[in-house]
Amino acid sequence: MIECIEQEVCRLCGADDFHPVINMGQMPPANGFRDTDSDDERYFPLEVVVCGSCSLVQLKHTVSREFLFSDYPYFSADSGSSPHFESYAEMLRDRYLDDGDLVVDVGSNDGGLLACLDDDVGRLGIDPAENTAEAAEDRGITTVTEFFDGETAESVRETHGSADVLCANNVVAHIDDLHGFLTGVDELLAEDGVVVIEVPYLLDLVTETQLSTIYHEHISYFSIESLTNLLGKRDLVLTDIERLDRHGGSVRVHARRSSAADGESRQVTNLRALERSSRLNHPDTLDRFRARAERKRQTLRDLVIDLADGNRVVGYGASAKGNVLLNYCDLGPEHLEYIVDAMSAKQGTYSPGQNVPVRAPEAFRDSHPDYALVLAWNYADAIRDQETDFVDDGGDFVLPTPMADIR
Ligand code: ZN
Repeated sequence: MIECIEQEVCRLCGADDFHPVINMGQMPPANGFRDTDSDDERYFPLEVVVCGSCSLVQLKHTVSREFLFSDYPYFSADSGSSPHFESYAEMLRDRYLDDGDLVVDVGSNDGGLLACLDDDVGRLGIDPAENTAEAAEDRGITTVTEFFDGETAESVRETHGSADVLCANNVVAHIDDLHGFLTGVDELLAEDGVVVIEVPYLLDLVTETQLSTIYHEHISYFSIESLTNLLGKRDLVLTDIERLDRHGGSVRVHARRSSAADGESRQVTNLRALERSSRLNHPDTLDRFRARAERKRQTLRDLVIDLADGNRVVGYGASAKGNVLLNYCDLGPEHLEYIVDAMSAKQGTYSPGQNVPVRAPEAFRDSHPDYALVLAWNYADAIRDQETDFVDDGGDFVLPTPMADIR
């Protein structure tokens, strides 16, 4: 199996015109929690570049998905009746769905979104991970366990008909073969259907210096400009955009075939203008991003090293994002005693690269550390609400972002 290939040309437009964005060096896979702290671990280059021709920001290397996703210990944090999926489903019903329509969710995970829709519409998930597909089937969501491409889409269309709504949430950014995905969309989408895609938003990544969004699984980092170029390859046009604060800042774009679209919303026009005025792809903007990244790295590293001298410091939240930060800042078990995480599959493992042991929340409550570095800072408020005893006992939280600080 080839584990890592260097990309010679742009995944979207094929141009040989890459410019550097940031090079994070050699990194282990960010979700590669390990059962022991001694077995061999693979490191791969993590370098982000921008295509000068179509403006797609992307990784310079592709680590094979079989390597990254085999035995993937992740269930959607949104399983059950999450408010996010409830409001998403409500939006689909209000804007697009009639009785008998078919909704297809690409990268459906355990069926969290589809389960929020009533069965007066057809609901079909597509997801290659067998364990999560089983969980979806258990809640009544039919799931095709394949990677999504032209072939899968054709067989789905023959069996279930065309999709009136095709959703892809936090999946397009993970796809190396963008053209395979587009072929699938083109194959499966009804003539008057709508595609709804959620991706982390490049403008938020750059303006807020969100380094920890960058890891091998996230291959593309989309702007409205590059999404427009992507969808345009199959004559799909943006009709609307919502900005969401998920994953540090995401966009949910709505698109239709140009023959079925009647113009773009004011939100689309406004975001295009904002990207132009922010000079998002300009070398000066990216140089400043790199400089901020270095400052962020140094500030967090200095603070944690300082605190760990004479205090007990732990990490909170064994997240992929957190692993990126620990590896980028080179913070390990000599600085963090352990990382606490509520997910039982991660407890007893060691974090990739730095080998910090992962423990259950009870360990945190029993051991009274002095500082907790919040590695899942997108859940910082929830963690604070949950761990009032820690603060009452004199403990302090350290937030790594936007700049490391005790808060
Ligand atoms: Zn390109």
